[in-house]
Amino acid sequence: AKASGRNNYQFFTQTMNQAAAHHFELESSLRGALARYEFELFYQPIIDIDTRQVHTLEVLLRWRRGGHGLVQPDAFIPIMEESGLIVPVGEWVMRKACEQSVAWQRQGLKPVPLAVNLSPRQFMHKGLIESIRRILDETGIDPALIEFEITETALMQHGEQTLGILGQINRMGIRLSIDDFGTGYSSLAYLKRFPVKKVKIDRAFIKDLENSAEDRAIVAAIIALSNSLQLSVVAEGVESEGQYKLLKGSGCQYAQGFLFSQPVEVQDVTRALAA
Ligand code: C2E
Ligand code: CA
Ligand code: CA
Ligand code: CA
Repeated sequence: AKASGRNNYQFFTQTMNQAAAHHFELESSLRGALARYEFELFYQPIIDIDTRQVHTLEVLLRWRRGGHGLVQPDAFIPIMEESGLIVPVGEWVMRKACEQSVAWQRQGLKPVPLAVNLSPRQFMHKGLIESIRRILDETGIDPALIEFEITETALMQHGEQTLGILGQINRMGIRLSIDDFGTGYSSLAYLKRFPVKKVKIDRAFIKDLENSAEDRAIVAAIIALSNSLQLSVVAEGVESEGQYKLLKGSGCQYAQGFLFSQPVEVQDVTRALAA
């Protein structure tokens, strides 16, 4: 028993060291990624449930890592969040999204609002408001075409401080929505104190909608309460017609998910907007 305990320990530390080495390698190559132009924006439509037309495009970061192909955010955003790299990269995302929106308008394409994710770290960064102002100024974008998504958990963590920052963003004419709603165990009544217009129900509640009466009840309750608080609702991760029909029947206004489109690259959006 002793020997195997020892082996387990060795195996454990070895795996830990490998994980640490992997993390270190990712972090150091992320540090140069911005300067090497390896980041890219993908776009995923949020559709109007009644018309199935595009209502907003969510901006999703991708990393085209040299020698590794396209890396999905779950593999690198947490590392950037931890190291603080998310602050400059997040600023780049905002700027790039605004520039792209202006470019589409210059091409005479129909303006579609863009929803940009703001991470907790960015949100708490002192320079945030100043950098948003600068980006609005320098790109000349209409702030009504920009929306920020902030997770429920981030809002809850920073209570009162958050209220002030959200107020400033709101006064610049940028709309705010609550992302991943339902995972943070807060109440809509509490969140309503923040100047938000939209709630995005986390995919976890949509996934089993067709089989789970419980999830259907939760989602129906979120939609009903949101509507009575003048918040519009987006269902995330809609993958089937069955889910779509249930959501439509519950009075949900917007939906996002693979049923309508995967996140796509910029050329695909340009083509779709021009069609
Ligand atoms: P999120 O903000 O909740 O974004 C939605 C995620 O769900 C996206 O994953 C999208 O591809 C995925 N998704 C959409 N529809 C479906 C569906 O029908 N089924 C399934 N299984 N998934 C679906 P993605 O692009 O991998 O992004 C993951 C997370 O990374 C995002 O979750 C967000 O938290 C973060 N992220 C992405 N881009 C940025 C960014 O620019 N800044 C920050 N701070 N975070 C970002
Ligand atoms: Ca989001
Ligand atoms: Ca989400
Ligand atoms: Ca999420």
